[in-house]
Amino acid sequence: MKILIAEDDTTSRLLFSATLKSLGHHVTAVEDGHEAWEAWRQDDYPLLISDWMMPNVDGLELCRMVRAEPSLQYTYVILLTAMDSKGSYLEGMDAGADDFITKPFDEELLAARLRVAERILGLHKKLHIEATHDRLTGVWNRAAIVDYLQRALQRAARQNSCIGVIVGDLDHFKSINDTLGHAAGDKVLQEAARRMELALRPDDRIGRYGGEEFLIAVSGCDWSQTVMLAERIRRTIGTAPVMSETGEIPITVSLGVAMSGGAGGDAGRLIAAADEALYRAKKAGRNRVEYAGRTS
Ligand code: GH3
Ligand code: MG
Ligand code: MG
Ligand code: MG
Repeated sequence: MKILIAEDDTTSRLLFSATLKSLGHHVTAVEDGHEAWEAWRQDDYPLLISDWMMPNVDGLELCRMVRAEPSLQYTYVILLTAMDSKGSYLEGMDAGADDFITKPFDEELLAARLRVAERILGLHKKLHIEATHDRLTGVWNRAAIVDYLQRALQRAARQNSCIGVIVGDLDHFKSINDTLGHAAGDKVLQEAARRMELALRPDDRIGRYGGEEFLIAVSGCDWSQTVMLAERIRRTIGTAPVMSETGEIPITVSLGVAMSGGAGGDAGRLIAAADEALYRAKKAGRNRVEYAGRTS
């Protein structure tokens, strides 16, 4: 596990680092709360072990800062306290700490506390995956892809960049359900998601936006790259029929593409613009890509 330690006392810091390393963890050790904050913001640390009394930013304040920052991964926080800190445990918990260890620490007790941390982090990860992924296809769900898009748009606005959005909707999907049954429809959805993922580049993100509708967030301001990607998805989907228990099912997809303006923009408006282009693709005969004008 990646562990960040904030401890101003050199002996204690070295002792914690050595013990945690000997337990097989990757340790980053810093000398005060301010340094810890900088390190934590730059990297993902599932576990933060912080002394309470430190110069600049103390452990309590560090806890509050960590909890106030929206982050995808939960950071389990253990506060280090002196023997005589009775009465302040609740204050530490209210600031966002998950556990305490008193100094000087007992090695076995530390290892035991880490088991708890790992168990909680494991549960959190499992819940987080369930909350953000679509069970059927394994891609992100609607809330997760829209959240991602909103954050990507904010980041793009700061960097004076922009984001492309592709909405893809399977053609005549209802008739697959109607003629071959829901299980065949499900199989098609799974295979369609798999093929779309195959067509993506590493920084592109996909989610299931609705029943048979997928949303792809494309980073970078490049219209031609986004257009090429949409075309690649269209071809990949239609390349071969889906093999199901009921036989071969030919599938195609229609896609709408929109691009945010340099000033950032709103996820809802961008999706609506891509949706409107998708509608035109459907009207024009399906199995094709249509484009929206630039949205700001
Ligand atoms: P178009 O070409 O215009 O997009 O027509 P379509 O038939 O694809 O679109 P329509 O919106 O009429 O039908 C979508 C269907 O998708 C209706 C719904 O029952 C089905 N559907 C939604 N979610 C699921 C699912 O999880 N599994 C299955 N098998 N079907 C689903
Ligand atoms: Mg201290
Ligand atoms: Mg459809
Ligand atoms: Mg649809």
